[in-house]
Amino acid sequence: MREKRGELIAVSAPSGAGKTTIIKKILERYPEIVFSVSATTRPKRANEKDGVDYYFISEQEFLEKIKKNEFVEWEKFYDYYYGTYKSFIDRNLNAGKPVLLEIDVKGALAIKKIYPDSYLIFIMPPSYEELVKRLRERNTETEEDFKKRIERAKMELSEKDKFDYIIQNKDLNNAIEETSGLIKKIINKEI
Ligand code: 5GP
Repeated sequence: MREKRGELIAVSAPSGAGKTTIIKKILERYPEIVFSVSATTRPKRANEKDGVDYYFISEQEFLEKIKKNEFVEWEKFYDYYYGTYKSFIDRNLNAGKPVLLEIDVKGALAIKKIYPDSYLIFIMPPSYEELVKRLRERNTETEEDFKKRIERAKMELSEKDKFDYIIQNKDLNNAIEETSGLIKKIINKEI
């Protein structure tokens, strides 16, 4: 029999809340945590790597994977698909490894239903105005994508109370320390 199952941790936040930066730091600090690389049909950004940030696949491939039940959950938004590989999560959890998901709010809530022992963490942007400013400055999206992301952010903020933990990202370094401390406790089974 296996000694222990790994912990499943989902981190969500509206685009531009600083989530990716926080997650990158945490993965550097705790190399034992396995990052779940999702599949997406969104075009790759210049700073992203296939197989590291996402598996960038075609819509046709994505639809085939849905049919074959390869995703534990998937979502379509901004006209693009995003999905979490079920086999990847289960293989690592069964091997006793903690698995971290960077996932949207709906996806996180779907994960909680399937894995009731999972931990859901929500990162709050400093303010709505700051969120808009950051999305503007990032300038990685078309104007249309930008508008959809703002709309989505509003919806996501309204769901935050369904999460187990909420981290305020008023100051990035504080948010990194707070999230890191929380995740350390989770993987050490102190909470
Ligand atoms: P982005 O395009 O900025 O990388 O991601 C857009 C949104 O999709 C983010 O909220 C991100 O967390 C979410 N996302 C990434 N991977 C998945 C996934 O596998 N499933 C779901 N439901 N959302 C995902």
